[in-house]
Amino acid sequence: LENFRGIYMKTKKKGLFIILSSPSGAGKTTLAKKLTKNNKNIELSISYTTRKKRPLEKNNKDYNFVSEEEFIKLKKKKYFIEWAKVFNNYYGTSFVNVKKINNKGKDVLFDIDWQGAKQIRKKFSEYVVDFFIMPPSILELRKRLLRRGQDKINIVNKRMKMAFTEMNHYKEYKYILINDNFMKTVNKIHMIIKSERNQKLNMIQIKKNFKN
Ligand code: 5GP
Repeated sequence: LENFRGIYMKTKKKGLFIILSSPSGAGKTTLAKKLTKNNKNIELSISYTTRKKRPLEKNNKDYNFVSEEEFIKLKKKKYFIEWAKVFNNYYGTSFVNVKKINNKGKDVLFDIDWQGAKQIRKKFSEYVVDFFIMPPSILELRKRLLRRGQDKINIVNKRMKMAFTEMNHYKEYKYILINDNFMKTVNKIHMIIKSERNQKLNMIQIKKNFKN
């Protein structure tokens, strides 16, 4: 029993890669913020983007806002674990940032689209826990995009179209949650993460130890 406890303590430090994807406006960003605030063991990976900063956003906090030229330079240097072009803008996840979080023994939270999720899954499948967050309805999605008020109306319409493209990929995710009640969704995600921490990594580590 002592040995098993030792193994458990070791693996607890490894950290999961938690992916949250959803159409823009399903409440994902608020969810991501709440999850990291409530749980000191989870840290958000701050992406790089060439998108224009929205009025309420802060550089280096919501995104690292960079020019297209800078992004392409970084991409060429293989700076990103994954990157994608979404809605005419580039988005990418820094390898260094993820490594930093992972080295602290924390879980990394990725707020990325289906293209990014696919790349992370391919490279780190055993660490990945992936969620697709669905808005309660199409009408609610539109309302939320309008309420956000940070985007112009033609952008909202384009984002609605993008939402359908994104939602076509929900089946690629292990967990699909309908975000009709914010706190319930937060609690569900916490519960699943807790369970996943116990399942995957520990079992992998125990298996390795038995082989030796
Ligand atoms: P927004 O412009 O509304 O902040 O984000 C648009 C979409 O890009 C969202 O689906 C968001 O999850 C996604 N996204 C944000 N950062 C990244 C990233 O680093 N990589 C990928 N692949 N998608 C991202």
